[in-house]
Amino acid sequence: MHLQFYGAAGEVTGSCHILTVRGRTLLLDCGLIQGGDQPDIRNRQPFPFDAAAIDAVVLSHAHIDHCGRLPLLRKRGFRGPIYATPACRDLARILLADSAFMAEREAERYRRRQAEHGNRQARGFPDPLFTRVDADETIQQFKPVAYGHATEILPGVTLTCRDAGHILGSASVWLQLEEEGIRSRIVFSGDVGQYDSPILRDPEGNGAADVVVMESTYGNRRHRERSDTLREFGEILRAARAGGGNVLIPAFAVGRSQEVLYELASHFDDWRVGDWQVFLDSPMAIEASEIYWKHPELYDAEASVARRDAGRMPALPNLKLCRSAEESMAINLLRGGAIIVAGSGMCSGGRIVHHLKHNITKRECDLIFTGFQAVGTLGRAIVDGREHVRIHGEKFKVNARIHTLGGFSAHGDQEDLLRWHAGVGGKPHTYLVHGETEGASGLSEALRARGIQADVAKPAQKVDLTSCGRR
Ligand SMILES: [Zn+2]
Repeated sequence: MHLQFYGAAGEVTGSCHILTVRGRTLLLDCGLIQGGDQPDIRNRQPFPFDAAAIDAVVLSHAHIDHCGRLPLLRKRGFRGPIYATPACRDLARILLADSAFMAEREAERYRRRQAEHGNRQARGFPDPLFTRVDADETIQQFKPVAYGHATEILPGVTLTCRDAGHILGSASVWLQLEEEGIRSRIVFSGDVGQYDSPILRDPEGNGAADVVVMESTYGNRRHRERSDTLREFGEILRAARAGGGNVLIPAFAVGRSQEVLYELASHFDDWRVGDWQVFLDSPMAIEASEIYWKHPELYDAEASVARRDAGRMPALPNLKLCRSAEESMAINLLRGGAIIVAGSGMCSGGRIVHHLKHNITKRECDLIFTGFQAVGTLGRAIVDGREHVRIHGEKFKVNARIHTLGGFSAHGDQEDLLRWHAGVGGKPHTYLVHGETEGASGLSEALRARGIQADVAKPAQKVDLTSCGRR
């Protein structure tokens, strides 16, 4: 029995770990590498295993850095089951289809440039990493597993998914392994959410393990208090209403869009949300929201009460869902009084870009960022305070008021991660993945201070699970 780290060791994307028990091979996640150095080339490299020989996959959650190479795994011969919660499968369907669509569009662009300018001008690949057909076929391989139900998924491998509180359907993966009379318990955290975050239940601990593989994205950080964040959100809206302009909120389609709408509904009277027209302007965020709203069994107590009282989710009578391009363009005619939630979260594409063109030069416009903005994105240029930004090749002066609301992260901070780890119990040897150097080493120090043997996982490092097991 052993475990090998393959992706997301020493970095934050491309999550993938390889577990071998009784000669069978199980993958934990199979994520896409995003950002960093030449991700297109790295994603296309051969896997360090034969895809056709993988017996099963367990998927922790639907974010593309955890599931984004599953269609590639299928293309290369994997035909086994993919275990995930039902909500995870529903969200993976949307996210993989979107990822495939973008890859198809990129490849199409490449071929066009190549035809016009020859090989030297064209950067990228003539074929997409995978197509929408590949993505759709991959979804057929999913086998839903409910939280808390122990399921034998391979000889000697019993899986229990527990809520990780990160996005809807996210799980920590608890595995009981048995080989030649030796038993070993291993827990893979997946991505761990914040405690007391809206809509979702808290990350669930409670058990014991011999080995823990744990994310460490914000292992050295402390998030801002949510109550401060919400107070600031309310103040921005009150001032914005007096200013008379529109409010733009770039948001990721899965998670953040639903959280923002939920908070607007929860503070409907307090923030005078009824004075606004609220738009969710993103077909993908609308699809993701419908999945959030149709899984009330996964809500925390507060969201369950809110849904019961309102009889629906979210309780926003003035919310308009904009599916068509015409509906989206109609918003451009509004000079004020609109709260527009649209993707992409970093303004690197999507409908938010059009709204920025119509609003960013206006002093009465408020622009609220609720998430991380990566270097090189339009969102980053704006939060960095650039006086002018380029949108679709055109120069725009930034006159809008820019706000960054901390505290909305889908990832727990150091305190949350330590709390989750304490819930696992049994003083397990802990390997930290899914973090850059500072996050992983910050968390390993904090765990060691609590008497836990904690190491930062190295790429391709192998962990012997037999020696840490028991008879
Ligand atoms: Zn995630």
